[in-house]
Amino acid sequence: MSSEQFDFVVVGAGSAGAVLASRLSEDPGCRVCLLEAGGPPPPAEMMPAAVASLQNNPETDWMFDGDPGGVGKGVIGGRMMVPRGKMLGGTSGINYMAYVRGHPGDFDSWAESGAAGWSYNDVLPYFKKSEGLSPSGDVVIDGDAHNTEGPLGVSVRGPVLTSAQQFVQAASAAGIPPGDYNGRNRGGPDGVSSLFQTTTKNGMRSSTYHAFLEPVADRQNLTIVPHAMAQRVTFEGEGEALRATGVEYRDADGNTHHVTATKEVVLSAGAVGSPQLLMVSGVGDADELAEVGVDSVHHLPAVGKHLKDHLHTGLYFEADGVGESMAEIAVSLGPDALRAPAGPLPADPAEDENLPPELAGLKAEAERRLTEWATTGRGIPSSSLYDAVAFFSSGLGDEHSHDIQIGFLACGYTPDIWRDVFRIDDNYFEDPATQLDPMKGVVVILPNPVLPRSEGSITLASADASAKPIINLNYFDDPHDVKVMVAAMRKGLEIAAAWPGDGLGALMVPPKLAKAHRYDAAEGPSDALLEDMARHYSITVYHLVSTCRMGDVVDSDLKVFGIDGLRVVDASIMPNIVSGNTNAASIMIGEKGAELVAAEHGLSIGEMVGV
Ligand SMILES: Cc1cc2nc3c(=O)[nH]c(=O)nc-3n(C[C@H](O)[C@H](O)[C@H](O)COP(=O)(O)OP(=O)(O)OC[C@H]3O[C@@H](n4cnc5c(N)ncnc54)[C@H](O)[C@@H]3O)c2cc1C
Repeated sequence: MSSEQFDFVVVGAGSAGAVLASRLSEDPGCRVCLLEAGGPPPPAEMMPAAVASLQNNPETDWMFDGDPGGVGKGVIGGRMMVPRGKMLGGTSGINYMAYVRGHPGDFDSWAESGAAGWSYNDVLPYFKKSEGLSPSGDVVIDGDAHNTEGPLGVSVRGPVLTSAQQFVQAASAAGIPPGDYNGRNRGGPDGVSSLFQTTTKNGMRSSTYHAFLEPVADRQNLTIVPHAMAQRVTFEGEGEALRATGVEYRDADGNTHHVTATKEVVLSAGAVGSPQLLMVSGVGDADELAEVGVDSVHHLPAVGKHLKDHLHTGLYFEADGVGESMAEIAVSLGPDALRAPAGPLPADPAEDENLPPELAGLKAEAERRLTEWATTGRGIPSSSLYDAVAFFSSGLGDEHSHDIQIGFLACGYTPDIWRDVFRIDDNYFEDPATQLDPMKGVVVILPNPVLPRSEGSITLASADASAKPIINLNYFDDPHDVKVMVAAMRKGLEIAAAWPGDGLGALMVPPKLAKAHRYDAAEGPSDALLEDMARHYSITVYHLVSTCRMGDVVDSDLKVFGIDGLRVVDASIMPNIVSGNTNAASIMIGEKGAELVAAEHGLSIGEMVGV
């Protein structure tokens, strides 16, 4: 087994890990090794509208799945998909790019629960440190909460889609005023609505790879090892003298290597990967580890527990002339998106010579749009089409924050994408051929209770780090979450009813449920029907957090309790889920984690904004 020595070994080049490794290696005297199971991102990763193609692809996605608990009755196979990014940039490379930090009250409640140094005023400088906002006249911005100089691109898509603008108008008419949801004040119970700020730069994805690693790839003191699957953390000593010494990993050819960390090992493998790696290394609930044949090194029962995630229930509306049709989107993604088997162009570009004039014209238009996006950053490809949002309080509890987020998706997808990516079968639609006609527009309003109380878990299925762990999502375990979901769906319907112009078309109610609840479109859905829709068809918003929670697994400096030289720095350390999308907070954790490490070891990294 080969062995190399560094000051720091970081596992996982995702939203937090890429930031951490990049910042630590700003000190030229410090040797950092960054292990990442995936490789460099594929070209499609750069194009926001191509986002769905990165899921369900073993090159870019871990393709986990989980037990959905009280939901998932209608999803194919009854299992919830749990995609996680597997590449340099991690999940920031496959996500939908919404840039949402969370409510100031989320962080204040972390601090109140014991996470010293993590209040809103403590973490705001770290959000700002990363951010490179391109100013936009299309959204309200609280200037003092933002930064235009940081490496992470944040922008609003251009041109703004009319339907997204209409969503904001409709939300406003339904009582949710426009504003900066990343501002210092996210508003009282009425909340705030806006077009999304997205992690994009010039219309292209700004993952943590592009923002933090690519520009420093030639640093001599930063060794990035792609296709390196960490197998376990190694230790020396025992009891109070237990100390992490390095990481064993397997390369693409199956050879095992050991990298030694003279100062620290940092796990940034995400909310699934970090607890799994701790547990296969012997850190977790000793009895549970024994069941799969792992010898306990340190009994820490909360590892993998307290899993939180967000769940949304799509409200699909016929919206011809409002939403973007899939035909329009396909042309905008360039000729390759139009090739067989899904599209009209031949699978082999060599056959394009004999195209009939109509298809030659289609191809030319696709090329024109692709070039326009590549050269100006503008056009349909420049966002994931998840383009607008509203936050507000249901009044059902959790007054420190907004407990509901309502997202807006400006297109309807194809039957293939619904089935293969979201596990929703054709039979959701009364008449799929008409309702999902690629020439017609559909929009989806996404009610999402953002302060769920139900908790799931990650446990080991095997002592082998390469085996998928058991993910129990346990949605709707707490009845409170069901009440908030129904309230969120009601508000979503209110927003739809307040749509400007000619309004939206019919709400699509799955025929089986419509029949069971005697749905009458003129009267609208009952609460019981909404709950049943949620129990059948709600899907993950992909925000898994809290599986190595601060206070239980790590202290407020992110050090693993009872083990020297070992920290966790990623979404898994959140004491509770933030009331919004989780990428920005994960990047903030990477920034703050880097300063905590730098301060302890006297590193001279660039600007220190906090510690
Ligand atoms: C489909 C999807 C859409 C999303 N959309 C949004 C959105 O629009 N906005 C938003 O804010 N959030 C979104 N999220 C969530 C957000 O991106 C994540 O919360 C965030 O990226 C988590 O960051 P992390 O650093 O904790 O983990 P990750 O970014 O997942 O990083 C973990 C890294 O560790 C690597 N790794 C894991 N195990 C090992 C191992 N054993 N050895 C070596 N490497 C390993 C992984 O490959 C990965 O690169 C989305 C998530 C998904 C899946």
